Amino acid sequence: MSNELDDNCIFCKIIEGKVPSYTIYEDDVVKAFLDISQTTPGHTLVIPKRHIPNIYAYDAKYAGEVFSRIPMIARAVKASNPKIKGLNILNNNGKLASQSVFHSHFHLIPRYTENDGFSMHFTNHNSEYDNAKFTKVMNDIKKHVEK
Ligand code: 5GP
Ligand code: ZN
Repeated sequence: MSNELDDNCIFCKIIEGKVPSYTIYEDDVVKAFLDISQTTPGHTLVIPKRHIPNIYAYDAKYAGEVFSRIPMIARAVKASNPKIKGLNILNNNGKLASQSVFHSHFHLIPRYTENDGFSMHFTNHNSEYDNAKFTKVMNDIKKHVEK
């Protein structure tokens, strides 16, 4: 896992202070700052201070260090406004999955109402699955699990 920052990466520039950000919290492992788009008020990004492109690139130790900071930042976002009724945490990986900045990040998106600027849609395909199909999908994934 590389420690290098990437000169062409907007989030590396934010880490280095070359691009300003509204920083909520930082330490030697993460930086948390307001997302420029403010999908809902308080929309915050948590990023690792190393240039990690996506979720696949973390080793377990560094993932633990980064992920362990998220609840503390989530509590601060929640406490910032009594109108916040929920919080979606989102991590996009790959262009198809709406990743536009290829430096790993976690969106903390406070939720105010059903029509507050953010939405998700989970389609239910359960009726298309029988035991054999569930088992095949399970095994296709399971055989790649590295411990
Ligand atoms: P993604 O689409 O990769 O999951 O999310 C990237 C996020 O980075 C977007 O929500 C976008 O608004 C945010 N973003 C892109 N450039 C900047 C920037 O220069 N400053 C800040 N604060 N956020 C940015
Ligand atoms: Zn970067």
